[in-house]
Amino acid sequence: MAAGVRTHTTPNLARQLRRAENTLASPVRLLNYHRVAEQTAGSSDLSVSPDNFAGQMAVLAGHAEVTGLTDSLALRRNRVRRKGRHTFGVTFDDGYVDNLQVALPILERHGIPATLFVTTGTLGRRCFWWDRIAELTTTDSVGVERLLLATVEVGLAAEAEVDALTALPQSDRHIALRQLVVAHPFDRRHEVVDDLSDALGFAPADTCGRPMSIDELVEFSQHPLVTIGAHGHWHAKLTELTAPQLATDVGTCLERLQSTLGAAPTLFAYPHGAVDPGVVDQIRRVGLSWATGTESRPLSVLDSRWNLPRIATADIDGDEFARRRRLG
Ligand SMILES: [Zn+2]
Repeated sequence: MAAGVRTHTTPNLARQLRRAENTLASPVRLLNYHRVAEQTAGSSDLSVSPDNFAGQMAVLAGHAEVTGLTDSLALRRNRVRRKGRHTFGVTFDDGYVDNLQVALPILERHGIPATLFVTTGTLGRRCFWWDRIAELTTTDSVGVERLLLATVEVGLAAEAEVDALTALPQSDRHIALRQLVVAHPFDRRHEVVDDLSDALGFAPADTCGRPMSIDELVEFSQHPLVTIGAHGHWHAKLTELTAPQLATDVGTCLERLQSTLGAAPTLFAYPHGAVDPGVVDQIRRVGLSWATGTESRPLSVLDSRWNLPRIATADIDGDEFARRRRLG
């Protein structure tokens, strides 16, 4: 009997949920890019190749409405699509120089606006620390023994840990080294990885996408298609910081952007998507208007303006992008 009831109620419930989902669906979709670069062993797995990025932008230009983020967000509670189309907002996180050198000419070709959420503490650095660790652990010429000795030399690992690290396969070694870096204070991680590179006498390869310099950020920000938002000063998980650290990290990021670009940003993206009520309170207190995370899904009309989802992008060509986003 109970089983019979389940058989009848489950499809009904599923239908009701689908109907509710359709009613609550927003016509707005935010896309979350990081690098526009070829995937290499040492590069971020969040890269979309230039060809695929160009294909995806061509699909958006041909089959969707694309607006600046503030305009997209103003439409998020409309239940009707404008011109029968979804409205897309294009965003980039972190501040890789390829956003300026590679992505911008493609955006220009189609007149597509974009928002960059920039991490201010990394501007002008040689590399983001997470890419550097990936590069060091996948470059054969570095050699495992040398790498591990250097981790001890710069205080990243204790001597006793080296045997365990040596025994790990390459992919696990990458993860273990990342964990050793994360065990350091959030505002020291870039420095300790720079020390590691120096100890190895290892300069970053071109494939290790570097952050923009301050001048490059200024140039990017002055383009009429570009808006700059904030992404923290040290790219820390804000939920793991004490209240004073949180206030300092967010405050420093906003001050740097204000002094560099002459205007305070109104948009924020949580590094790693890490957010809790304390983080939201801090973001609201400092005058920001919207904040977005990394939960990968289309918007719903119920989403809070303080944690808007964005669709994680993939390194796929225009046809596959159109299929997945139901465009064209
Ligand atoms: Zn980020």
